[in-house]
Amino acid sequence: MSESNEPDVLSRFLRYVAVNTQSSDEHSDRVPSTPCQFDLANLLADELRAMGAHDVEVSENAYVTAHIPASEGAENAPKLGLIAHLDTTEAAPGANVKPHIVAYEGGELVCGIVDGEPVSISPDRIPGLAALAGENLICTDGTTLLGADDKAGVAEIMALAARLLTDPSIPHPALGICFCPDEEIGHGAELLDIPAFGCTYAYTVDGGPVGEIEWECFNAAEATVRFEGFSIHPGDAKDRMVNAANLFVEYHNLLPSVARPEHTEGYEGFIHLCSVSGTVTHATARYIVRDHNAAKFQAKLDLMQRACDFMNAQQDQVRVTLEIKHEYRNMAEIVGDYPQLIDVAKEAFSASDVEPRVIPIRGGTDGAQLSFRGLPCPNLSTGAYCCHGVNEFIPVSALVKMVDVLEQLVRRFA
Ligand SMILES: [Zn+2]
Repeated sequence: MSESNEPDVLSRFLRYVAVNTQSSDEHSDRVPSTPCQFDLANLLADELRAMGAHDVEVSENAYVTAHIPASEGAENAPKLGLIAHLDTTEAAPGANVKPHIVAYEGGELVCGIVDGEPVSISPDRIPGLAALAGENLICTDGTTLLGADDKAGVAEIMALAARLLTDPSIPHPALGICFCPDEEIGHGAELLDIPAFGCTYAYTVDGGPVGEIEWECFNAAEATVRFEGFSIHPGDAKDRMVNAANLFVEYHNLLPSVARPEHTEGYEGFIHLCSVSGTVTHATARYIVRDHNAAKFQAKLDLMQRACDFMNAQQDQVRVTLEIKHEYRNMAEIVGDYPQLIDVAKEAFSASDVEPRVIPIRGGTDGAQLSFRGLPCPNLSTGAYCCHGVNEFIPVSALVKMVDVLEQLVRRFA
């Protein structure tokens, strides 16, 4: 593909993924958690100013905000927000991303060769991959993630902004644009000044394959279970030793194995053991608990507490304790009151010849936090596949298509 024929959204995407923006859970006490997120924030702000966006700002926490005035005649339409996140996950290496385009002909998708071994993924593991035969797919070299989550969303919003600012004939309401830091470590939109942003509704562009519309997410909590043992020389242990590591094993076996993530899908919630460490004296297990349904979510937390109580009743003292930290709630509680946001998104996809698919998010989203803070905010697809790993990829056509979808969306709000 020659430079001159390259779609604007593709050039943008390739430029943005080259900037490392990995966030860091270890430094979640500050925002942004990593200073490198400013590199992309400042680059985007410069580009927004150059294209003529208004009030472009990078906050001290690396939030990029900008505004685009309404097209003529749409001044009274409610202001609409478009939001994506700057950071990439630390679940896979994220620096020195070297994207390249694979002309995919079907079968195993080979991203790159690392240490003489192909880094590849098969159509059996990725629903929808087989249907992409004939497409140009942007992949990594196999050593890093791609960062389409969420630089695809960033590039699509930026390309839309450029289109609107060069073509005044496209009707649209006043738009607020926001790129947030630290979504991947759970507090992406926390510090967005919603009154100053001034939008009545917003969409995040942070989903998967083209066509997805999401407005339901999990209710989420982290559960830490601690086990206290009693250590004594194993030779003298009879009727005296209490092995904390064994207490963990018993506890874990009281939890239903059918409720593990590897056995659940769709609207089924789960209890997931993330990590465990233990000795005879102490053991600590960290779980995450997820469910779309608030009552079923609470039932899972109650079950974990009952398992604690059951074990403690058999011990000489309290040896098992549970600590629950609530993380986020299902935004359906809020967005459910604004069905028009979902209807308009469906129309925007249909008008772009894409079959819309409304699916529950099996995770969280910036939109959940924003919705509960007063800015109803469903999530739209970016077009990306296999996020958070070295096999992450996105079809060039998906980037191009999503800019058209966003144009259709803003036209409908005018
Ligand atoms: Zn994301």
